[in-house]
Amino acid sequence: MCLAWPRNDRARGVHLRCTQRSRPNWLDRRRTMTLTRDSAREIAARLAPDGLAFINGRFAPALDGSTFETINPATGEVITHVAHCGTADVERAVKAARSAFDSGVWSRAAPEYRKQVLLRLAELVRTHRDELAVLESIDSGKTITDCLHEIGREVPNFFQWYGELADKSFGKVAPTAENALALIVKEPAGVAGLVLPWNFPLLMATWKTAPALAAGCSVVIKPAEQTPLSILRLAKLSQEAGLPDGVLNVLPGLGETTGQAIGRHPDIDIVSFTGSTEVGGHFLRYAGESNLKIIGLEMGGKSPFIILDDAAITDDLIEHAATSAFWNGGQNCSANMRQLVDRHLAEEFAYRVTARARAFRVGDPLDPATNIGAMVTKEHKNRVMGYIARGTAEGARLLTGGDASGPGYFIEPTVFADMTQTMSIAREEIFGPVLGILPVDGMEEALRIASDTDYGLHATVFTRDIDRAIHMARRLPCGTVSVNGFSEGDVKTPFGGYKRSGSLARDNGTEAMDQYLQTKTIWIATAQPAAS
Ligand code: NAP
Ligand code: MG
Repeated sequence: MCLAWPRNDRARGVHLRCTQRSRPNWLDRRRTMTLTRDSAREIAARLAPDGLAFINGRFAPALDGSTFETINPATGEVITHVAHCGTADVERAVKAARSAFDSGVWSRAAPEYRKQVLLRLAELVRTHRDELAVLESIDSGKTITDCLHEIGREVPNFFQWYGELADKSFGKVAPTAENALALIVKEPAGVAGLVLPWNFPLLMATWKTAPALAAGCSVVIKPAEQTPLSILRLAKLSQEAGLPDGVLNVLPGLGETTGQAIGRHPDIDIVSFTGSTEVGGHFLRYAGESNLKIIGLEMGGKSPFIILDDAAITDDLIEHAATSAFWNGGQNCSANMRQLVDRHLAEEFAYRVTARARAFRVGDPLDPATNIGAMVTKEHKNRVMGYIARGTAEGARLLTGGDASGPGYFIEPTVFADMTQTMSIAREEIFGPVLGILPVDGMEEALRIASDTDYGLHATVFTRDIDRAIHMARRLPCGTVSVNGFSEGDVKTPFGGYKRSGSLARDNGTEAMDQYLQTKTIWIATAQPAAS
């Protein structure tokens, strides 16, 4: 191991600094949002989620009475039984959503009214932050600190931002001769099916629901089967905020049944999906075999974290590298698991990122001292452990981690060195805390290896040379490139993927609202009025 600090004599031209202030938000949140472990446990003990579906403003069991279990991944215990919505329930929900849409109670309401309701919903989420965060944590295994941040800050900010956008979105007037007036107006797309993953349950629901509602759509939400509870609670809050019945419906269920019924429904106009690339492909097929509904896809990734030879291996860089890989236990579509490090820096980087990985505390998600909670299910934990075994078998050097402990579904942060581009841990999405270091020789090789993947969601580049930063940002084939700090952007910036990571649709920013709007041209022939 090389412990010496390298000299960075390649840095030239205009220098970029890796500032302490450029840390990702999730590190800062640790200082700002807290709940003691005892108070989190007290809240958890008082929760009594009933797992009913929310259709047309009422909570109800599935029509055929069927249910499935939702499990606390930190203990393996059943939290409650949840309605398993079948085709008949999807039918009921779509009918309610369509009828609310056609009535105009929301879709044609004054934008100021939509804004007021969304702002009230943002405030209600803030008021119920602790309860929602604990519910999310026990249902998903995510740490309470992350849940408090996502639900206390990000979720209400999204509802607020899109609420504010509702009465600030303008159409256009096309240039014409004086004999016409050509208006280009936006109209809500109709009934939107929102199909969600389990890794950021309430946040992903919000990323889609907030712009869809701001646009005037009615929505039918299918949470992931592992994490329905916080989204069902949000449904109740949306009613308290004044959202008319039928505009927002939540159908817990399984992908094969509920998800497929949404994908194939002839009266759903648009589906926005976040999840795996494989299931994203199913939705394109469902649309092709039903009503050619619009499909927006946000899918998997295998994102690179690139350290060029002029970068300094600072504490800040190490923090970003570890964050990008281990945040949310690596269960993040934009996780930067392929860490492509210039060969001159690789050993020093490996040493320091390994030390940082060992400092993460893995365990009880309700303890604010915990940094990494549980993997979402036992099956998922086993899948991730399978990749760790394959990494070792294929010849990567295990530097730390690789252990699992129970009875919950915990995995230690794991670091592999000497990863090569052909290994399965370098090519496949693991979706767990497994960071691989791949040494590269120079910028062009880093670019070539970074681009050699079916995915194209995200990349981070560390360099102090602005010309190289811009060159890399322009050439990397992915939806977000982050320079000198890992970041996914924020509510204002579109998020989505190139290649098999996404469709042209984007979550976040004004682009997300555009997904839920149709464009209409109104061409008005005009004549010169007779002189009076
Ligand atoms: P998933 O298995 O694709 O599931 C996503 C959603 O689709 C769930 O609600 C699931 O229901 C449903 N579904 C599953 N099979 C279906 C089918 N045959 N027909 C219709 N719906 C079906 O993905 P996941 O395991 O929940 O999430 C992890 C994946 O999401 C990763 O690949 C990750 O990269 C990706 N992700 C991407 C982004 C992004 O913005 N690009 C963000 C977060 C996650 P069940 O829960 O019942 O299976
Ligand atoms: Mg669960």
